[in-house]
Amino acid sequence: MTAADASNTMKKIGAAIVPVTPFRQNCTLLWCTRTLRAAVIDPGGDLDRVRAAITETKIKVEKIWLTHGHIDHAGGAAELKDDLGVTIEGPHRADKFLLDRLPASGLKFGMHGVRVAAADRWLDDGDRVEIGDLAFDVLHCPGHSPGSVVFLNQDDRFAIVGDVLFRGSVGRTDIVGGDHAALMASIRNKLLPLGDDVAFICGHGPGSTIGRERTSNPFLR
Ligand SMILES: [Zn+2]
Ligand SMILES: [Zn+2]
Repeated sequence: MTAADASNTMKKIGAAIVPVTPFRQNCTLLWCTRTLRAAVIDPGGDLDRVRAAITETKIKVEKIWLTHGHIDHAGGAAELKDDLGVTIEGPHRADKFLLDRLPASGLKFGMHGVRVAAADRWLDDGDRVEIGDLAFDVLHCPGHSPGSVVFLNQDDRFAIVGDVLFRGSVGRTDIVGGDHAALMASIRNKLLPLGDDVAFICGHGPGSTIGRERTSNPFLR
């Protein structure tokens, strides 16, 4: 392999996970390793820890991306947006009702001062979001919530799947707006066809690959 080939295949994505909220949600800092331009995905809360991680990684946050509207993913979005002067992209508009009720959901779980969040840009299936040199395709994957989206980077075969799919499990559908049949359709029709080599970070717990889940996830048998 020549030097040029080697540099073409070098990973362009940097990622760091900050577990936030009582739900230990995987708030993910995602950046372009060439430009250090970054997105914070699902800043559910514990923003002091998120800010510390941003400082430590020396990234330049330009966007907040939301996979869906649940409190553990979106609870800190409005405050962080104002702090950093950035825009919020996602989720799909079908989760607006969840973003509107964030303060009430927060109180239920002892999270005070949570503000209503709103997307500056609602996302739909087939949309594209960008950060630095990186482009991510948006997949609308309803079921866990009606407006859940997945972010896919084709070049690095990498995805952020929120609470749609987990290592060894799938998203719960007993929360208002959940729909198990729709969730399974999203996983079978949108995620599994991406290919076994696609690695992902999910909303809770360790990440995995599509192949590992296709062959070993008991919910996909
Ligand atoms: Zn959720
Ligand atoms: Zn969650």
